[in-house]
Amino acid sequence: MNTTTTTTSTTPAIEVENLTRYYGTQPAIRNLNFSIPQGQIVGFLGPNGAGKTTTMRILTGFMAPTSGTARIFGEEISNGNPEPRKAIGYLPENNPLYTDMPVIDFLKLAGHLQGLHGKQLTQRIRQVIDICQLGDEQHKRIGELSKGYRQRVGLAQALIHDPPVLIMDEPTSGLDPIQTIQVRELIRQLGKEKTILLSTHILPEVEAICERILIIHRGQLVADGSPDELQQSQQAELILRIENAPDPQTVINHLTTLPGVKQLEHIENHTYRILLHEDSDQIRRAIFHECVEHNWIILEMHGKRQSLEEVFRRLTLQEPSTPHQIR
Ligand code: ATP
Repeated sequence: MNTTTTTTSTTPAIEVENLTRYYGTQPAIRNLNFSIPQGQIVGFLGPNGAGKTTTMRILTGFMAPTSGTARIFGEEISNGNPEPRKAIGYLPENNPLYTDMPVIDFLKLAGHLQGLHGKQLTQRIRQVIDICQLGDEQHKRIGELSKGYRQRVGLAQALIHDPPVLIMDEPTSGLDPIQTIQVRELIRQLGKEKTILLSTHILPEVEAICERILIIHRGQLVADGSPDELQQSQQAELILRIENAPDPQTVINHLTTLPGVKQLEHIENHTYRILLHEDSDQIRRAIFHECVEHNWIILEMHGKRQSLEEVFRRLTLQEPSTPHQIR
């Protein structure tokens, strides 16, 4: 980092402001805004074509935005400034590797490109081989390796200069279940020291390793929060159990008139499923008061927790509107 910028532990590792990128006349990302503090593991989710790779390529300096800014530790990434790029390790999608090269030579080349030489380079190669468990494979040509091991070579390449920020585009794509678990564990270990932004289509993966999720849809941010926060905030369904009500239709007639209630369904005996436009204390209070007014005894009222898949589907099926900012 250059000396004109003071980096403190509160400087965000990654910061994106109104980031926009067009391909011709087509917008790939539009006015993206987010900030990632140092040390977080963040999952970057979105359907195919949502703009994840485009964002990552801008963050890693491989592509310029049409407008807006991206900063790494407070320093703007622009074509002329090599400093922020040095703070980043990048594992691109489909991880292009030189298949004819032995692993160790490839890592030497990657190190040279990052400005490492001599003893420092030898030492660092030994470390990344150790971290990525490539000891038995280091003299094999990359083309001879399984997909999982190639992915580890890609990671070793991304880590060679010991960057504080790691950006990974679908790091476990195409791996078998055992390799997937191993690479995930490796990412989790790396996340103890580094800031990690990773894109994936595998939702259980996000739940397993990410403390925060950004969801992008048609180039716009539609959600930002922890897996738990997203699941809770998207609870648009309540289960209500009441006693002392005359008949289900009366309950349905009364409660469906409340603003915010979309639909009511009588599931069994005294139990109803209430679909809401969006869950809020206000709606719950209104339902409570309506029941009290009619002397219906509430035995139970709780939100039905949604799976991350349901949250993702809900957010990416509709037209993007204002981001669902939770934090
Ligand atoms: P996936 O999950 O399928 O990898 P993604 O979220 O990474 O998708 P991007 O690859 O960033 O999405 O693509 C965003 C949009 O930009 C898509 O509509 C895509 O067709 C378009 N796009 C991406 N790269 C180019 C390019 N080089 N030229 C023209 N359009 C592009």
